[in-house]
Amino acid sequence: MLARAAPLAPEWKTPMPLDEYRTKRDFSISPEPAGRAPRRRGGRRERIFCVQKHLATQLHYDFRLEHDGVLLSWAVPKGPSLDPATKRLAVRVEDHPIEYADFEGLIPDGYGAGVVMLWDRGTWEPQVDDVAAALARGDLKLRLNGYKLKGSWALVRTKGWGVRGPDDGRSWLLLKHRDEWAGALDITTFAPRSVKSGGGFSDILSAELPDVWTRNPRGRSDPGLVASLTRIVAKVEALERAGAGDAGPARPARSRRARS
Ligand code: MN
Repeated sequence: MLARAAPLAPEWKTPMPLDEYRTKRDFSISPEPAGRAPRRRGGRRERIFCVQKHLATQLHYDFRLEHDGVLLSWAVPKGPSLDPATKRLAVRVEDHPIEYADFEGLIPDGYGAGVVMLWDRGTWEPQVDDVAAALARGDLKLRLNGYKLKGSWALVRTKGWGVRGPDDGRSWLLLKHRDEWAGALDITTFAPRSVKSGGGFSDILSAELPDVWTRNPRGRSDPGLVASLTRIVAKVEALERAGAGDAGPARPARSRRARS
């Protein structure tokens, strides 16, 4: 649980004035540079995929596939399902930079403001010769090798294709093919936590120095930052009150307020 009645948004375990906090971090630069060594198998670099559980205006899961130097991205409101009979709406959203694939932390500003948990990560392989053609066709078959999601999947474009309008071509379905990794297990509730930190949203939020991702080049002096972080804390608290936050085993409360 988050401590209540905090005057400022997150309660850093070590109290630190916000100005000092800002000087220690450059909010305009990714806290997670790519940095990882390319993994190779059969002579070619493996493609990464990730799923980020994102509490913004609505809770959703961002499904991202590395392709041609970017992360192709779909927002999946209900998250992936291991049940082949359960097709999940996946709204195609803007490509993200590769280095975002490892990100977990806070987005203080703009569209998507909220908290991001790295819910799954691993590698993927297209089951088609030409990914660009498959995307254009609206039928991308793929294999995932993550911690939670594995085996054969597909992204299939659904209604909206060819229709002029704001949703033109953006509606897809994410579905599991029947294989040894399919099943009735509700993976989003069975394994709700981060594969990076092991934590839930409130753990990410209350980390001593949460990573921050911002598209605001003036973030360093953004007067709306505290207000934005306050809203994020309120969202996580509301989610936890609804019992839908971490949804994992309860952890003993840490007494971060013991000093005050
Ligand atoms: Mn998102």
